[in-house]
Amino acid sequence: RARRDGGQSVCFYEPRLRLLVEEQRSLLADLRRAVARHAFGVEYQPIVDTQTLALRGFEALLRWHRPGYGPVPPDRFIRVAEEAGLICELGAWVLEQACREAVSWPSRVRVAVNVSVSQLESPGFARQVASILSKVGLEPSRLELEITESIFMDANASSFGVLESLRELGVGIALDDFGCGFSSLGFLRGFSFSKLKMDTTFVREMGIDRRAHAVVSAIVNLAAELGVAVTAEGVETPQQLSILRQMGCTQAQGFLFSRPMQPAAIPPLLDQIGGEMALSPAPDAVLG
Ligand code: C2E
Ligand code: MG
Ligand code: MG
Ligand code: MG
Repeated sequence: RARRDGGQSVCFYEPRLRLLVEEQRSLLADLRRAVARHAFGVEYQPIVDTQTLALRGFEALLRWHRPGYGPVPPDRFIRVAEEAGLICELGAWVLEQACREAVSWPSRVRVAVNVSVSQLESPGFARQVASILSKVGLEPSRLELEITESIFMDANASSFGVLESLRELGVGIALDDFGCGFSSLGFLRGFSFSKLKMDTTFVREMGIDRRAHAVVSAIVNLAAELGVAVTAEGVETPQQLSILRQMGCTQAQGFLFSRPMQPAAIPPLLDQIGGEMALSPAPDAVLG
């Protein structure tokens, strides 16, 4: 609450609000410093085939351990980075890290990287992606970029142009958090995505809520009709996996198979699953 004091127009804030503003400012200062030093980590979460449990790929997920505070959830700091204009630098760093990592994996294992709308809209984004791929020596078809529906909110024609250029490059484009945000089915006609990703919230409610079940089933059918892959996120229980299988959902990701992993844990995993490339559900998750 701001108020006027004496004739001066000085703004005071409630102490709580002032604290919040200061916290925000200090978070931003720390984030700037971290971006300048690339002081982030990337974890990788397996994506598997629902029928065979074969490993299809990993999603790269950004991690920030804020000095003196501990881990900050990406949902929180990425928004701050976007608002402060830091996301393009940060996003380019993640993309290069993830592509470098993926080079050492078997060629049928892809890497998915989240991309913000500001990155897509920054001039030369498609060229940047192409140059990272050729620098690290990764086949474009092994990279999938995940974009959220928010792209359709400030849908300017240039973002669609970028999507087309990326697709021509041979990179996959997944529509992330499908059905959660600003959705119009119209844009599925306008651009051919390579994959739809269903958000964790749908999957979580699927077994308990009939309507959530219906929504998941409709998305799976829609993907099949469009001829695109569909991944369910947030699969935590064998029951959820079996419902998704029955529905015909092709891919799954979630704690049932694995939490996001440190890069160092990937080579041992690949050795362990060997030619079979199938992940068995985590033993502790089976109880869930
Ligand atoms: P997302 O892209 O939808 O990623 C999936 C989120 O679901 C991840 O959260 C993942 O850890 C979580 N998850 C996966 N399986 C399960 C499960 O079985 N149960 C539960 N409860 N959660 C599960 P995370 O890592 O916290 O990331 C949150 C969001 O932050 C991501 O959502 C994505 O939108 C954004 N993000 C992460 N890394 C990046 C990045 O490098 N760039 C951009 N622009 N955004 C990123
Ligand atoms: Mg994602
Ligand atoms: Mg998602
Ligand atoms: Mg999400």
